[in-house]
Amino acid sequence: MAPPKKGELTQEEKELLEVIGQGNVQEAGRLLGSKNVRVNCLDEHGMTPLMHAAYKGKIDMCRMLLRHGANVNCNEHEHGYTALMFAGLSGNKEITRVMLEAGADTDVVNSVGRTAAQMAAFVGQHDCVTVINNFCPRERLDYYTKPQGLEKEPRLPPKLAGPLHKMVTTTNLHPVKIVMLIKENPLLAEVDALKKCARVMELICEKCMKQRDMNEVLAMKMHYLSCVFQKCAKFLSEREDKLDGFIKSLLKGRESDGFPVYQEKFIRECIRKFPYCETTLLQQLVRSIAPVEIGSDPTAFSVLTQAITGQVGFVDVEFCTTCGEKGADKRCSVCKMVIYCNQNCQKIHWFTHKKVCKELKAAYEKQELEAAKEKKRQEERQKTEKEPEVDSNSNEEQPEPDPGVTGDESADVAQEEKAEALPAASEADGAAGLQDMAGRVREPEE
Ligand SMILES: [Zn+2]
Ligand SMILES: [Zn+2]
Repeated sequence: MAPPKKGELTQEEKELLEVIGQGNVQEAGRLLGSKNVRVNCLDEHGMTPLMHAAYKGKIDMCRMLLRHGANVNCNEHEHGYTALMFAGLSGNKEITRVMLEAGADTDVVNSVGRTAAQMAAFVGQHDCVTVINNFCPRERLDYYTKPQGLEKEPRLPPKLAGPLHKMVTTTNLHPVKIVMLIKENPLLAEVDALKKCARVMELICEKCMKQRDMNEVLAMKMHYLSCVFQKCAKFLSEREDKLDGFIKSLLKGRESDGFPVYQEKFIRECIRKFPYCETTLLQQLVRSIAPVEIGSDPTAFSVLTQAITGQVGFVDVEFCTTCGEKGADKRCSVCKMVIYCNQNCQKIHWFTHKKVCKELKAAYEKQELEAAKEKKRQEERQKTEKEPEVDSNSNEEQPEPDPGVTGDESADVAQEEKAEALPAASEADGAAGLQDMAGRVREPEE
């Protein structure tokens, strides 16, 4: 069949573009079944139905069109826009992901030389930029499963490409979670395999920095994964407790408050070892982390996660204390201060949590008490303030008895008290900023 010409649409194709705009999936499905509808037809601007659906933010429509054979990389638009570019412009993260998974090429540029990521950034759709920058197509890894140039064997054994790709596409970068994923897979949990994976990560990191459209975010992610893999290999070859030893080291809390110092130092060290010192991303990370005392917020993990995945408003209550998985909802029944995804995560953490659980329980009770007191104080304050006028304006400005606010304030109070109670040890630890941190992180003795 001849390629579709711009603007030569059948009646049904015109109807299809209309129902796409309305989001009528059922009707679109019916029309796509008609032999008078070409899924890659072009309107007068060279836009395909998929481009329309992406731009209008209709995800179900996008999925259906792709199922019907829509070409995700069609590039007939008058300004060279692709469906991925339209997805980025729409600001819909999910649609952006759907396009990438369907094989959208991230390097294509429009008529003024901009990639989809650059276009999305230009209009302030940073979530979409993150999705695009974090996406690593399987082919990128598959490249290393074949010997290149003079190599006798490939850098990456083909059987490792699948499991490695799963790790590369993860958005939970918690080191414990990564080690858990490695432990789950006997192919990966082996010194030689981990070393090879680490090397491939470094090579991709280098490529990300040297390609025309530099991708610092993916480069940092690859570098970080490489660091975790190398450390896993080290524990596997040197420690009797193998990967469990690494997990324990990462979780072990310090005496004073249970803060996992080794984990914090490990992540800081990974960032510090990023080989491209001059990048904006690295500078940004160092600026956010270096002045923070070890044990205070933000943690290196939250700063790194935010930089790589673009997650903002990092509230630790929603994340598993052990593995950093989002949406954890099982609380320690004693202290109610730590949260896990499941019993397994709680079990792994107990060896160190048991040392502070009682203290945390006391802190929790105090916090609840303070919250109740503060609420009462506010209610009383309101009663006295309510006396003078009945002006509608001043009424609006009066503090509402908002339970959320009271809760927050009391949490602050509790935190201040906790900080005061910290022994000198925390200060000594914190003095080591990111730059002057000792060259190596020592594993805590078992
Ligand atoms: Zn967990
Ligand atoms: Zn507890």
